[in-house]
Amino acid sequence: MSTGYQKIKPHKLVIPSTITPKTTKKKYDAIVVGAGPAGSTAAYFMAKEGMNVLLLERGPYPGAKNCGGASIIAEATHKLFPNFWDEMDCERLVTSQSYWWLDETSAITAGFRSMRLAAAPFNRFTVKRPIFYAWLAQKAVTEGATLCLNHHVSHILWEGRQAYGVALSPPQDDNELLADIIIAADGANSLLTERSGLTPAVSPNHLSLYVKETIALSSDSIEERFNLKPGHGALIGLIGYPTAGFNGTASIHTFKDSISINIGMTITNYVQAGLPPFSLLARLKRHPVIDTLIRGGITTEYGSATIPEGGYTAIPKLIHPGVLVVGDAASLVNGTHGFNLAMWSGYFAAQTAINAKISGDFSIKSLHLYRQLLDKSFILQNMKHNAKAASFERDVPYFFSLYSHIANEAAFEITKVYTMPIKTKRKLVWKKIIGLQPITRILRDMWKGIKVLWGN
Ligand SMILES: Cc1cc2nc3c(=O)[nH]c(=O)nc-3n(C[C@H](O)[C@H](O)[C@H](O)COP(=O)(O)OP(=O)(O)OC[C@H]3O[C@@H](n4cnc5c(N)ncnc54)[C@H](O)[C@@H]3O)c2cc1C
Repeated sequence: MSTGYQKIKPHKLVIPSTITPKTTKKKYDAIVVGAGPAGSTAAYFMAKEGMNVLLLERGPYPGAKNCGGASIIAEATHKLFPNFWDEMDCERLVTSQSYWWLDETSAITAGFRSMRLAAAPFNRFTVKRPIFYAWLAQKAVTEGATLCLNHHVSHILWEGRQAYGVALSPPQDDNELLADIIIAADGANSLLTERSGLTPAVSPNHLSLYVKETIALSSDSIEERFNLKPGHGALIGLIGYPTAGFNGTASIHTFKDSISINIGMTITNYVQAGLPPFSLLARLKRHPVIDTLIRGGITTEYGSATIPEGGYTAIPKLIHPGVLVVGDAASLVNGTHGFNLAMWSGYFAAQTAINAKISGDFSIKSLHLYRQLLDKSFILQNMKHNAKAASFERDVPYFFSLYSHIANEAAFEITKVYTMPIKTKRKLVWKKIIGLQPITRILRDMWKGIKVLWGN
């Protein structure tokens, strides 16, 4: 049966070489800091319009500072980079998505799988980060942007209140790089904007630390264990037991010859739990329903990374004279969705910079277009809709774990066949539920949860 998804040919990974700008005091139209999805997208669209763009990346290649893979939303990416799946070597086409609510020994699962998700223009792909990042950076270079690798930007330079360039760390011969506009795309916990006095340090309540492992398994084993057609992939969100009594999330992604498992919660929660991050991942891997998925696999990567999960109310000031903040640096993350928001914010920043270049005006007033474009887009509308999610997770810190436990206990009693009348069994289930949490508190917590989902 045709899946509708045909691999054209694997994208040959061409890592752009390091280029050192030769002319001293050359002024660029724009400097972009960070060759992640946000920065490379901004650089690509500005260069495409003929702007002279310098893209600075601290790593030895784009994606070097990130580990493993993730999933990208096809429609959001396709609208910016039409038919990107023909150019980039995607891993698997996702046709199965599910959530598993775990307690210590069991899981309640709810999912959706459909071949309709395999029809062009598709829904989601899993991708390996270095391939995705290199592909995007290569696109910017092809349009004429200059990419400098191993260039760590320490801070923004100011003349009065207007930005005029950036400085590198460690200092180099040609240390001051000049431009009309700086785009800060340096990712979560942006030290560039913090050091430059533009944003306060990200609160530990708003910063989640994820630990992540890539486990190699044969393609056949993955397809058998996750019940997938060849080339298709699965995503599983894991809730409850993984985060040891706190709110947070874990997930499993499938790739061609590996799967990744990651888990994260806020830094404040780690401190309260008194648990080192790696121990959460280790205990999740031992869970009976997870162990069967990863058994026999070989760990090929292990790493950690942060996600700014403070939501709408934690978004810092995004526009400064001569500076725009994009992607994770701007806390533009909705749940754990970040790539599409990063790329679209990079695109809006590019539109704003192109407009400012034409008018020759890089003041806050002129750059306000960036905020207007964001406000009108799905990015800020969705983040606004979920604005109360972060505070809800802080107010009801036990929500995911306690209610996953209660649901699993109830499901066990319902599934177990006893020699007792149905009425007695119903009473047993009810007693079990209210023995774990008084009904008034259950109703109050559920009402709060519904209000957050509803966007009130
Ligand atoms: C474990 C985990 C899983 C995730 N899974 C998903 C997923 O499945 N789907 C999804 O949509 N999102 C996912 N996300 C979120 C997603 O990774 C981010 O939202 C996205 O990468 C943000 O892109 P960005 O370009 O803003 O930042 P980044 O991807 O972090 O890129 C920033 C770049 O800037 C460079 N840099 C940083 N500082 C400097 C400096 N001073 N000078 C020069 N260069 C610098 C970095 O090296 C990096 O290359 C996940 C995040 C984590 C941690």
